[in-house]
Amino acid sequence: MFNKHLTVSALTLTILLMGSITQIQAASDDTVTVYSSRKEHLIQPLFEKFTEDSNIPMHLRDPEGLWTGLSVRARTIVYSTDRVDPSELSTYSDLAKEKWTGKLCLRTSKKIYTKSLVASIIHNQGQEKATEIVKGWVDNLAAVPNAKDSHIMDAILAGQCDVGLVNTYYFGRLIEKTPDAPLKLFWANQDTTGVHVNVSGAGVTKHASNAADATKLLEWLSSAKAQAIYGSLNKEYPANQNISSDEIVSTWGSFKQDKMNLAIAGKLQADAVKLMQRLDYK
Ligand code: FE
Repeated sequence: MFNKHLTVSALTLTILLMGSITQIQAASDDTVTVYSSRKEHLIQPLFEKFTEDSNIPMHLRDPEGLWTGLSVRARTIVYSTDRVDPSELSTYSDLAKEKWTGKLCLRTSKKIYTKSLVASIIHNQGQEKATEIVKGWVDNLAAVPNAKDSHIMDAILAGQCDVGLVNTYYFGRLIEKTPDAPLKLFWANQDTTGVHVNVSGAGVTKHASNAADATKLLEWLSSAKAQAIYGSLNKEYPANQNISSDEIVSTWGSFKQDKMNLAIAGKLQADAVKLMQRLDYK
């Protein structure tokens, strides 16, 4: 991301660009401040292109640069194609409505994926609405929360429940083995905040003995070559959005993802846990 002019920092690099002076500063939050005497319309397109070419989008990286996401998974609705018409589906909050009583399967509140999703709902909709949604989910459960996403899909296939929430790669693994399974994904919140995503990621430890090479490795892992491998090995989405998804993953279509920075999910995790405990979400 670029800010034209502003601020003074210790780390200032001066370059000569087409005869005019441009100063570039790197800040810890990934913002680069540029001082330029060059006319904005002559220089802005270059910066826009640079931002576009940065491998991993901002919402999938720590604002302070401590970690970066490397692969993305959407946590969305999975449903029985035998018993649910997709026109009945819409949002995470819709699953809290009475029409889903006894039909919902969810993963345990102890799992990080559940905590992050609830944290995102607190962030997007506030404590009060999040409480209402989670309470509705708990009331609608067909069974005690499942230990694994794969168990949620097994339960739907066994007729125990009709809908659930899973990370996309678990669905991908199941569909790879049993392509005719009567299950489908539905992209949640497409008319509102977008579907919640979580990442697998990496960072360089504070006292790393070879931080320079570790950083190079991370950069390589975000490159086109490595990102294509990430996508195909585990049916995940490449975090580098210039890389297309694996063949099976592509068949699920594109979706709008929630652009909430994932560091917020970390910050709100304790609130999410307290909220779920209060509502007896096991
Ligand atoms: Fe997992």
